[in-house]
Parts: sequence; C-alpha cells; structure tokens
Amino acid sequence: MTVRRLANAGGLIVLLVLPAGLSTYGIHIANLVLIFVMLAVGLSIVLGHAGQVNLAQAAFFGMGAYASAVLTLKVGLPYWGAFPLSIVAAGVLGLLVGLPSLRVQSHYLGIVTLGLAIAFSAVLVNASFTGQAIGLPGLPVPPFFGIDLSDEYNYYYVLLVIAGVLFVLARLMMRTQLGRRFQALRDDSLAAAHAGVEVPIYRLVAFVIAASYAGVAGALYAGLIQYVSPDTFNLGIMFLLLAMVIVGGRDNLYGAALGAAVLLVLRQQFDNLQQYQQVAYGLVIVAMVVVAPEGLAGLVRSGWRRVGAALPALRTGSADAERVLDDADVHGLAVDDAALAAPPPSRSDERGPTGSALEVEGVTKRFGGVKALDGVAMSVRAGAIHGIVGPNGSGKTTLFNIATGVYGPTSGVITSFGARVSGRPAHRVCRLGLARTFQALRLFRSMTVRENVMVALDRSRPAGMWRYVLAPWTFGARERELRRRADELLGRFALRAIADFKATNLPYGQQRLVEIARAMASEPRVLLLDEPAAGLSSAEMDDLQQLISRIRDSGVTVALIEHNMGVVMSLCDRVTVLANGCVLVEGTPSEVTRDPAVIESYLGDAKALEPDPSPA
Ligand code: ADP
Ligand code: MG
Repeated sequence: MTVRRLANAGGLIVLLVLPAGLSTYGIHIANLVLIFVMLAVGLSIVLGHAGQVNLAQAAFFGMGAYASAVLTLKVGLPYWGAFPLSIVAAGVLGLLVGLPSLRVQSHYLGIVTLGLAIAFSAVLVNASFTGQAIGLPGLPVPPFFGIDLSDEYNYYYVLLVIAGVLFVLARLMMRTQLGRRFQALRDDSLAAAHAGVEVPIYRLVAFVIAASYAGVAGALYAGLIQYVSPDTFNLGIMFLLLAMVIVGGRDNLYGAALGAAVLLVLRQQFDNLQQYQQVAYGLVIVAMVVVAPEGLAGLVRSGWRRVGAALPALRTGSADAERVLDDADVHGLAVDDAALAAPPPSRSDERGPTGSALEVEGVTKRFGGVKALDGVAMSVRAGAIHGIVGPNGSGKTTLFNIATGVYGPTSGVITSFGARVSGRPAHRVCRLGLARTFQALRLFRSMTVRENVMVALDRSRPAGMWRYVLAPWTFGARERELRRRADELLGRFALRAIADFKATNLPYGQQRLVEIARAMASEPRVLLLDEPAAGLSSAEMDDLQQLISRIRDSGVTVALIEHNMGVVMSLCDRVTVLANGCVLVEGTPSEVTRDPAVIESYLGDAKALEPDPSPA
C-alpha cells in the first residue's frame, strides 16, 4: 500500500515537472494525452466496468466540443459559462444513446450506439449552425485569472488538474457502491436485479457518466484547439479510444490512462504513415488481446508480482490472500454449528411471521405454445419451509421466475404478505422482501465472496449518488460499515476465511453457500431456493439442511424446490406437487408421498427424481 502511495507521488511529481522537458510540439501532445485520458477513463467506466458496449464516446466528445463552440460563438456566452452547459449537453446525449441499452445488450448495443454516433456526425456535417463540413473556427481562448491559456504550457496545468479530479472521482466511484453495482450488472444483470440493483437506472447512469467525462474533454479540447470540425470526432477516433481502453485493460482506470498516453504518442510516431495507421492499431490490439488479455494494467500487475516475489519485503496483500486459501477448508460446505448459532439476519421479526408469505392465485404462464404454468394456486404459510416438487419441466422454476420478476404472468397474480410481487421488476421484488437463489449458479464472477454479499447488503438508493459530487468523503465510512456487516454475515455462513477469494474459484458446494448468503444479505422475509442441494455431496447436503432450518428458525419463510425426497421429507412443513404446470396435490410430506396420483405421475418414475439440468 505504501509502495503504491510512493508510486503515485512519484508519478504526480513527474507530471508536474514534465512541461519543463517538452518542446512546444511535445507539450501539445501532452495536452492531447490529458484530454484523451478523460475520454478513455469515461469509456472504461461504461464499457469496462459496467459492460455496456458504447461506440458513441467520440460523438459525446464532439457534443462537448461543439456545444462549447456554438454557445460561445453563436449564443455569446463566456467560455466558462458555456463549460458546464457543454457537459450537460454531452450527458443528455449520453442518456439518449444509452436508452437502447434497456432493450439490447452486447454487440447489438454496439451497433445501435454506433448508428447513433454516425447520425450525430451527419448532423454536424449538414447543419448550418455547426458550420457544416468546415466546422467552427475562431473559438475564444479560455480566460483564466489573467493567466494566458493560449500558452500551451499553461493550459497543461489546467488540463492536469481537471483530468486529475476526474480520475480520482472515477476511482472513488468504481471502488465503492456505484462500481460494485456496475460490475454486478456486467457480470450477471439478472442476478444483480435480484440482489436489489436497479439495473436499468445504472445502465443509463454509466452512459451519462461516460458522456459527461467526454463532454468535459470536448469543451477543453475546443478551448485548446480553438476550432472544431466534424472529422475530429469520427470513427477513427472512436476506434483509437476503444484501443486505448482495451490495450490499457478494460476495467482498470490506471490502464485506461496509460493506454491513452501510449497509443496517442504512438499515433504521433506513425503520423507519416497515414494510410497504415489503422492497420497498426489493429495489429497492436490483436497483439494485446492475444499476449496480454488483461492489457497494460495486467502486464504491470504481473511484473509487479514478480518483483514482489523477488523482494519478499515488498509483498502486498494479494500474497496474504493466497496463504488464507491454503489454511481455509475449501472443500465441503464446512458450516459449523457454532457459527450458525446466531441466526442469519432477518427483518421478519418486525411484523412476525404470520399470514401468507406467498400467495399464488390462478397463475398461468405461456411460452409460445408451451403452457409452463396452468392456473396454479398455492399458499406458503409464513414461517414455514414449503417444498415444491415435480418432474422436470413441470413449471417449478417458472413459478419462482414469476414471483421474482424475471417475467410477468400471462394471467393470475402472486402476492407476498399482501403486496403484489408478480409483474414487478426484480429489484422491486427484492426490496419487497423476496430473495432467491438460482437453479444454475449465478454468482458475480469477477467479484470476491465479500463483494458478492456487499452488492446485496447495500440498500442505498440511486438518488444517493449525488454524494459522489457533493460529499465524496462520506464513502470511506459507508464502505467500512458495509464490509463489517458483510464479514459478520459471512461469519455466520462459515465463509469469513474465504471472503477475499473470487467467488467462482471456489468449489461448487461453497459457491452454492455464497449464493444463499448473498440472498440472505438482502434481508428477505421470504427465501426462494431453486434446487439448492443439486450436485452436493451427502455431507454437504446434511449441512445444507441444517442451514435451511436455521434460516427458517430466524423467522424467514423458505420456499424450496427440491428433487431429493429425503430432504423434502425431513425439512418441509408442507409440500406442493406440480405436474405439467398444474398443482397435482398439496399437503404434508407424508400425505403427499402416500398420494396415488403422486406415486403414479412422479415418484414411480425414477428418472423424474434426477436433478434437472436445464438452467434457471
Ligand atoms: P422445472 O423447473 O419444473 O423443471 P421449468 O419451470 O424450468 O420447469 O419449465 C417449465 C416448462 O416451461 C418447460 O417446458 C420449459 O421448457 C418451459 N420454459 C421455461 N422457461 C422458458 C422460457 N424462458 N422460454 C420458453 N420456455 C420456457
Ligand atoms: Mg427448474
């Protein structure tokens, strides 16, 4: 940590004295680098951290520059008066370009954002107020307390301070709740929504932040060059920006800044090779993706690790984490009774577990010609463990999916303690007190066990984001509090020792447990478990049964989809048997297993008892 501080301080000193060693051409390049650092950091936030394919960053850049030009030249605003408005203009464009992300993702989103960026370029070239193909020359030099900013050596320091502030702000955002939510929705947007993350809002926020960063860069670029023209903000620049972020290492902000510097300087070197420039970038990107998929940031990290190995005194935290891996029992669930003696947190005690925790009323769900559910009615009593069994394809998972907002019912309604949950978005259902696990594991794969849990523990609303701008110092205490609560929860699940591991590097049984811990972190009143015992060893299965009954004892109602009749018999208070999307019978476990219809359609069929391999 101290070594990192030293490196930061050293880097800062170099940046401060750098102009002294640069020619007038060199300082111009340095200024462009700083502008591209802002652009690349913004792109890294939306693309690398939030996983939203944004191919319109160059258009946002152009929006900032053109807004500044139009507002100063045509409207007559002073440069610094136009400055915040230019950022807002870019942010609004970001919001509009981000809207398709609510419907499409990945390469489809890339195509849509690219299309919108091209439309934006077309406007610049054709509209008369943007100067058409010629652009707008003769922009004012930004005034600055009597300091002459037409001198690029002076402009450098203005850019350095602003780029520095934006970089530090980006680091803060990406290392705390906002970044965690971005990462969660990038890793698995469905699981993020079920952990309470307002996925649509955060997708848009990612676009707006990236566009605002580009807006700052654009306005400062207009002040630097004093001329805007449409071909500055073309696809070539977009490709360069993309290369900067990929070469730098996608979700690493230092990497993005480094990538911006390296590629821009390289570009100047290749400047006399105009026609081969794009080919050269292409080759650099291909080489990076093949040789160093984690980019420059990854190279620096592994180089640093090698230095650390050679100099034991410099060893940092990551080495400690590896040591814990050796100590911890990573095989088996290892849920010890003492750790579980304290009940997992729940807020059900507030109202007391009475009434109907889950009331399913005539729910039908069609998928095209398939009727996955056909008029299902059932009731889960508060405080119970309610089993749901039935052959593969009988509609069990679909029932959970409708209860938790994966999709709406074709008809019918599901309520929980009187509140309608069906037909609501997943994050709302989570806040109404329903949490779930998935038939196929859905952990946030790039995150540690602790971070997985922290996503669900964090109940702050999107509106609280103003703090990043107006009260950034409050995040330290908030993060410490969240970490403390996460560690406490993990302690109850005997996962404390492996809190720093990447969740997806754990053995299967423990991943299941992490998923249950994450579900409990959102403090549900009702927990829906979709085949939690599938794939567990018999020892793990025993631990799981204890865990589930303790969760129930803490006041949380449990609905449990399970194939293993032994587990169902010993755990469940009541059981609903589904067959072909209909309720076959409901009753106590012993009633159900004696029912002739059940024996015929389900229990008699040995194959039906095998775990269902289809995903959630
Ligand atoms: P179970 O969990 O009991 O094995 P599911 O609820 O997964 O059953 O599936 C019930 C039926 O609905 C199956 O025929 C399945 O193919 C169909 N089904 C489930 N989800 C979808 C979907 N998203 N699209 C189309 N069909 C689906
Ligand atoms: Mg299923």
